[in-house]
Amino acid sequence: MPRIAYVNGRYVGHADAAVHIEDRGYQFADGVYEVCEVARGYIVDMTRHLDRLARSLSELKIDWPMARKPMELVLREVVRRNRVFNGLVYMQVTRGVASRDFVFPDDVASSLVITAKKVDPSFMEKRAEKGISVITVPENRWDRVDIKSVGLLPNVLAKQKAKEEGAQEAWFVDDNGNVKEGGSSNAWIVTKDGVLVTRPAEHGILRGITRTTLFDVAKKLGLKIEERPFSLDEAKAAREAFISSATTIAMPVVTIDGTSVANGHPGSLTLTLRQAFFEIAEKTQS
Ligand code: PMP
Repeated sequence: MPRIAYVNGRYVGHADAAVHIEDRGYQFADGVYEVCEVARGYIVDMTRHLDRLARSLSELKIDWPMARKPMELVLREVVRRNRVFNGLVYMQVTRGVASRDFVFPDDVASSLVITAKKVDPSFMEKRAEKGISVITVPENRWDRVDIKSVGLLPNVLAKQKAKEEGAQEAWFVDDNGNVKEGGSSNAWIVTKDGVLVTRPAEHGILRGITRTTLFDVAKKLGLKIEERPFSLDEAKAAREAFISSATTIAMPVVTIDGTSVANGHPGSLTLTLRQAFFEIAEKTQS
């Protein structure tokens, strides 16, 4: 079955879907994006993802490409047309197409692309049974990573380095030796006392939607959470470590820069959070 993409008001074959060479997303990375998980036929946490999209757009003064309600319908329609039962739906909004000039163009409509992709859930399940390895890299991104911009070159380079070193994620570490977040995920640890620790989202990291929903999950399970910076040394000595994102949910980390976390096996609390996540998250029928 051919894949279908939504590009600026039209449903087109994936192979023919294209944007203009002077799209500002292509020229300047002048755009933002969101990724929602699709699980068992539901779009997960759509409201929170669209709320964050609204914030990213507003911070960059990019107009909504269409009203929010019809956009929700298009999201569901793209998932439906691609018959995605498990996978992800991706949306990208850029400032639009204009002759190349750094300053904002006048009277240009923003561009919208939405795609959906099937993903075999057993891939991530198998990964979660084993756990992943992370490496660390010095933070070298701008200080507005709270905006989900398509400018991701430091993340690309960090994750490529991880891959070359046999790891699945790279953690950015700040000048004080504290872990910020992964190239495409938030970072967490579990202390010896069973307390979940993750860095505050006000500065220097993206406020992950999975992270926010995991707060709800933890509350429901009666687990304690501390939002505070944690150092790389604390992470290596932790009882458990994990990452969170829409595509990985809670994913155990079993080695950090080659050092095993605890006994080198996925932590039980991480797997409990992973299991409970879908029940608690918002589910929108596609
Ligand atoms: N941090 C970064 C840098 C990311 O790219 C992502 C994934 N988009 C996350 C955190 C996790 O965010 P979410 O849970 O909303 O997928």
